[in-house]
Amino acid sequence: MLNRLFCRGLGIYSFDWLIKCRQFLVQAFIHMTTVTRFAPSPTGYLHVGGARTALYSWLYAKNKGGKFVLRIEDTDIERSTQAAIDAILEGMQWLGLDWDEGPFYQTQRFDRYNLLIDQLLAEGKAYKCFMPAAELDAIREAQMAKGEKPRYPGTWRDRTDHPEGQPFAIRFKTPQTGSVVIKDHIRGDIEIANSELDDLIIRRTDGAPTYNFCVVVDDWDMGISHVVRGEDHINNTPRQINILLALGAPIPEYAHVSMILGDDGKKLSKRTNAVGVMEFRDDGYLPQALLNYLVRLGWSHGDQEIFSLDEMIELFSLDAIGQSASAFNTDKLIWLNQHYIKTLPVKEVAEHAKWHFAQQGIDITQGPALEDVITVQADRVKTLKELAQISGYFYQEYEAFDEKAAKKHLRPVAKEALLLVKSKLSALTEWNTESIHNAINQTAEELEIGMGKVGMPLRVAVTGAGNSPSLDLTLNLLKPAQIVQRIDKALEYIANRENS
Ligand code: GLU
Repeated sequence: MLNRLFCRGLGIYSFDWLIKCRQFLVQAFIHMTTVTRFAPSPTGYLHVGGARTALYSWLYAKNKGGKFVLRIEDTDIERSTQAAIDAILEGMQWLGLDWDEGPFYQTQRFDRYNLLIDQLLAEGKAYKCFMPAAELDAIREAQMAKGEKPRYPGTWRDRTDHPEGQPFAIRFKTPQTGSVVIKDHIRGDIEIANSELDDLIIRRTDGAPTYNFCVVVDDWDMGISHVVRGEDHINNTPRQINILLALGAPIPEYAHVSMILGDDGKKLSKRTNAVGVMEFRDDGYLPQALLNYLVRLGWSHGDQEIFSLDEMIELFSLDAIGQSASAFNTDKLIWLNQHYIKTLPVKEVAEHAKWHFAQQGIDITQGPALEDVITVQADRVKTLKELAQISGYFYQEYEAFDEKAAKKHLRPVAKEALLLVKSKLSALTEWNTESIHNAINQTAEELEIGMGKVGMPLRVAVTGAGNSPSLDLTLNLLKPAQIVQRIDKALEYIANRENS
């Protein structure tokens, strides 16, 4: 008898123990692996605020050797578009923020959400609410008129007199006492009393699960250990934690990132700033510059400003993100862009620059290697767009002389120098910077004039304008025949000027 009791006791004890053990292991495993996510709603392009959140999530996962998940939160069917999904994916790809899992789409997971809603309903953790929208509106209006926060008063929470055949929403039974503590890496502990929260709808009358519920289920199913998102979601967090608790799911750690303000310190707006990530591509920024810029916009590591991607990954931590809003500073972004144009491997810069040449209709397949053009121009430009704008003469005939430069330098006195330098250049048997330099030098010496008197007319002749890298570098990237032809064009210009 004693033996039987003992065995039964042990049996019950071991079963319970096994379940506890399993839960412990599952949770321990989940938290052992860092999994972060970026979860944009596809209602517009990827903007800098979203890109920074994505970067922080991505860096944190990489720093911990974990995983980064991309999830498209497309439950708002009316406002979500395929074009926005494409734009977000394009932005992420351009920035190089690759994801280990996904993209997942919430609209493809409705069965899962509904299954769990039904489960909560069966467990008495959620309930049917038959309140018509008009009644709820009236309640809210009355509350607001009294200066109260509009909230659902829990009318159907405990009612069992459910009307037959009437539409209903499903609401989550928010605990009525106690509080929720958000453990936030940026803001510390944030405590919210449950009495502040009402019973939120988790399935609408039309049968669609709501946003807050889908986020919770996804974060759980996808094993998200750290939620990094904008501070505008702080209000959702206690509700989401309550639902996670009701589902028996682990609670992730949070980092609510502050806002980005415009250069003017006001809310970042399309009118005053570029805000879409691809606009920065269009304006000629390198993704590396934007990433470096964004990582520093809110996060710091001592006074360091320049971070290679590897350094960002190595040094990044959620705890070093600042709490205050950060103002956008275009000058600093330009400074970083210049830095990376000059210092990144030229092949990498060329990969991005190509697009800008194509955009400006410049065919770079004939002519010098783009890498060589970048090498001579890198010091002279702030953006890749500018690079393409000032490098057209390497690949095609310039349309007309820059008026000011031509007026100043293509004068009859320059004729002799142009003729002599043309003959010297066309006589060269070796075409390199040294031989070109010597030909120009000798021209000046023979005519007993300063170098500028040869150089400037030659520069305008060859490039169409008064600015270019040094002439030996510039000419070296062109063919002698092209140079001869362009000098002839300049001589023609001078002749026309003499005759008019
Ligand atoms: N889908 C939300 C947004 O685009 C983000 C939600 C979250 O990160 O939890 O703002």
